[in-house]
Amino acid sequence: MISVAKPLQKLDLFNPTEAHLDLRDSVANFSKRELDETAKEMDEREEFPIELFRRLGTEIGIFGVTIPEEAGGLGLDPLASVIVHEEMSKYDPGFTLSYLAHEVLFVNNLFYSSNKRQQEKYLPKVLSGEWVGGMGMTEPGAGTDVLGMTTSAVKKGDRYVINGVKQYITNGSIGNCFLLYTKLDKSSKKMTSFVIESSYKGFSVGKKEEKMGMRSSPTTQVVFEDMEVPEENLIGEENSAITHMMRNLEIERVTLAAQSLGIASRCIEIMCDYSMRHREAFQKKLIDFGQIQRLVAESYADFSAARALVYQVASQIGPDIRNSLGAASAKLVATTMAERVSRNAIQVLGGYGYCREYPVERLHRDSILLSIGGGTNEAMQKNIASDLRKLFTE
Ligand SMILES: Cc1cc2nc3c(=O)[nH]c(=O)nc-3n(C[C@H](O)[C@H](O)[C@H](O)COP(=O)(O)OP(=O)(O)OC[C@H]3O[C@@H](n4cnc5c(N)ncnc54)[C@H](O)[C@@H]3O)c2cc1C
Repeated sequence: MISVAKPLQKLDLFNPTEAHLDLRDSVANFSKRELDETAKEMDEREEFPIELFRRLGTEIGIFGVTIPEEAGGLGLDPLASVIVHEEMSKYDPGFTLSYLAHEVLFVNNLFYSSNKRQQEKYLPKVLSGEWVGGMGMTEPGAGTDVLGMTTSAVKKGDRYVINGVKQYITNGSIGNCFLLYTKLDKSSKKMTSFVIESSYKGFSVGKKEEKMGMRSSPTTQVVFEDMEVPEENLIGEENSAITHMMRNLEIERVTLAAQSLGIASRCIEIMCDYSMRHREAFQKKLIDFGQIQRLVAESYADFSAARALVYQVASQIGPDIRNSLGAASAKLVATTMAERVSRNAIQVLGGYGYCREYPVERLHRDSILLSIGGGTNEAMQKNIASDLRKLFTE
């Protein structure tokens, strides 16, 4: 494996604070030192390195990035979360996806939607990494059409009884707690959410998915059969979950876009190193050929444009700042960019790119999930058009 001479992270493009710079440094160092080594093996074995995950808390303290310090978090902004996801995804996007499910889909969502008692009960466990979190929205019959979900919650005395199946749940088999979206009335579009624990009677883990990419991240069905949930685990009020679900989807989309940036920047570094310093053909470096220059140059320009957009949008979202148009645009642009750039990297490396000695084929496989999870790119196109329509007609 060749070494990379000049990491692209030196080319920063926004106004980082000291906290952002320190965070990038510590996550970059940890990821290069720890994830680079394990990523290939975890991908092949479809295994999640749980002890390594816990060290994200004990060693570099990156659970609760967007949670206020007084609640035990780092008290940073969504930009900081983008930095973390970008840096980790350079080495292991699958591991990063599981981190995202814990950190963004559970921790961030719980903190900004729950009450003090729920925070006091769950935050210490998930901020230390003792417990792993996740989120259950998608069902076998309802993905993009999320409002068509059928998982039901029925109030009985001081409990809710939940029945249903959630599909493609990141951390499904390793999670101790989940944010769960349900319906009190299946014929209504209104949703009600709960924080639940995998130790509850009636909770079970279903089929584990065998995936094309993101293979170090466990994806399973999660099944609820007459699962009793105490009423104090209701998040907010009954039928009020759409608001916090939509709010959290925005930061989810921006961090998934940040994963795309990490994948693309690593692919560009490898393309440059390989074509400029190592591989020769016809007594010339590969980069001397115009067609290779085009692959490298277009990849870099494409990546830079997406990165500017993702950082700009990340600086314009937050618990009190809604930006669905920006989040959908950032995800659409960055995820399609990462698919193109990682494919270009395979082409520049030729047979070495297609085989597993270099990580570009894995990064390409991983990149494709980012156009599906957190809302497909077709859903992003529809959201953008619908937000623009509101702007132009209301
Ligand atoms: C690895 C992985 C991890 C995931 N993790 C989680 C998780 O932790 N929690 C969770 O809740 N979910 C999770 N998901 C689910 C993910 O969010 C859904 O897969 C995604 O929203 C798409 O839903 P679907 O797969 O049911 O596809 P569908 O909704 O069935 O879509 C199939 C195709 O039809 C298109 N389509 C659907 N409706 C329309 C329309 N109206 N107009 C145009 N095109 C349309 C879609 O864009 C897509 O191309 C995960 C998925 C994967 C693969």
